Amino acid sequence: MNASEFRKRGKEMVDYIADYMEDIETRRVLPEVQPGYLREMLPKTAPRKGEKWENIMRDVNNAIMPGITHWQHPRFHAYFPAGNSYPSILGDMLSNAIGCIGFSWAASPACTELETLVMDWLAKMIGLPPVFLHENGIGGGVIQGSASDCVLVSLLAARFAAIKDLKSKFPFVEDGVLLSRMVAYRSKLAHSCVEKAAMIAMVKMRELDTDDKFSLRGATLQRAIDEDRKLGLIPFFVCATLGTTAVCSFDNLDELGLICERENLWLHVDAAYAGSAFICPEFQRYMKGIEHANSFNMNPSKWMLVNFDCSTMWVKDRKLLTTALTVDPLYLQHHNSDKAVDFRHWGVPLSRRFRSLKLWFVIRTYGIEGLQTYIREHTRLGKKFGALVRSDSRFEVIGEVTMGLVCFRLVGHNYHTQMLLRAINMSGKLHMVPALINDQYVIRFAICAQNASEDDIRFAWNVIGEMAVEVLEACRS
Ligand code: PLP
Repeated sequence: MNASEFRKRGKEMVDYIADYMEDIETRRVLPEVQPGYLREMLPKTAPRKGEKWENIMRDVNNAIMPGITHWQHPRFHAYFPAGNSYPSILGDMLSNAIGCIGFSWAASPACTELETLVMDWLAKMIGLPPVFLHENGIGGGVIQGSASDCVLVSLLAARFAAIKDLKSKFPFVEDGVLLSRMVAYRSKLAHSCVEKAAMIAMVKMRELDTDDKFSLRGATLQRAIDEDRKLGLIPFFVCATLGTTAVCSFDNLDELGLICERENLWLHVDAAYAGSAFICPEFQRYMKGIEHANSFNMNPSKWMLVNFDCSTMWVKDRKLLTTALTVDPLYLQHHNSDKAVDFRHWGVPLSRRFRSLKLWFVIRTYGIEGLQTYIREHTRLGKKFGALVRSDSRFEVIGEVTMGLVCFRLVGHNYHTQMLLRAINMSGKLHMVPALINDQYVIRFAICAQNASEDDIRFAWNVIGEMAVEVLEACRS
């Protein structure tokens, strides 16, 4: 493809994307395909000669689109929002065109410098303490591919620091022996990626109970630490969650932070979804105690109109992160290493895309106020939906509705709620996913679409109400 054909096809693609977004409502939110459907439709081997663009796009329409779950659809209420917006798409387009691989400052100075600048902007927007900013020279932020990556690298940094500290006290003890004594903590509502990080890092991790508001409290952590120290274990890491996946509850950072500081534990805070809400000052109360954290992550690619991938993470002391992740072959070195940030030392991959462009485009296009309006509207709709559920005695809301997530169930046996969700998803009218909270099966209703409206909420509630009648009748007979 040459530049002139790219101009033509590129313009067509922009129209295709705009049409897709504008007409998305006419599609079924969930596809009706079966596993293996695509292999039946497309050739088993790659073409020997290049094909016509028209044929590729024909297959996009006939084979790909029927197998898409439409995450941007107004009837999509599953998981959490998959951030998206036109400025973000355009930012990614430009990043793809520039095509630089920004592993070091020298590999593309603007790529690194924009990332440090925008991470400072965002840190200020959500009210992180100044120590987490690049401009103060000790901490700083970095864009990773996912929240799972952020949690993993935090755990790796904490593990490295703990082993180093233990080595200084017990120089003749093998690393493996020290590691076998170390223990980390998370609440039972922490995302599964926290458990996975512990598996990868080969550290023991204890799952702790939450209180009646689904919050991990200081006393529970302290009890676990005391028990483990008595057993000769070495507590070293806690992952707290602000905005749990199941129910959007908040661990008590203030209590956990003081304990971590006193007991010398690394405190990581995972705010993958809820972190974007901290752009609004009224939500920053959930971050009380953040000054005790060593690292923090949130996903603009969930709730800040930036498309995947864009997970932002900050550390209070960048050296603790980079010493755990630095290997430095000659071919990657440059003569400004001592004056500049090299993000290859801040994560697992070497190569990295110019992701800060889309974040910068989004923040500049909407402004802080535009993003606040978006978050507040989703929260208003979440509360509105919660009120509709509460007004119907067949249902109950589980947990507090603080943001754009409502967890609800049919009063009574889990089976009824399971049947209800199954019927709704099979109808293709809405898409939601479940969670298990203290053995209660709940349906998670997340406000996801960028321009979600009250009409969408009412539509969803009507579908749920009608299906509930059918399910309850079927369960009775
Ligand atoms: N942490 C929380 C609280 C989440 O809700 C999620 C995903 O929903 C994750 C971590 C994992 O996010 P990612 O897919 O970016 O790894």
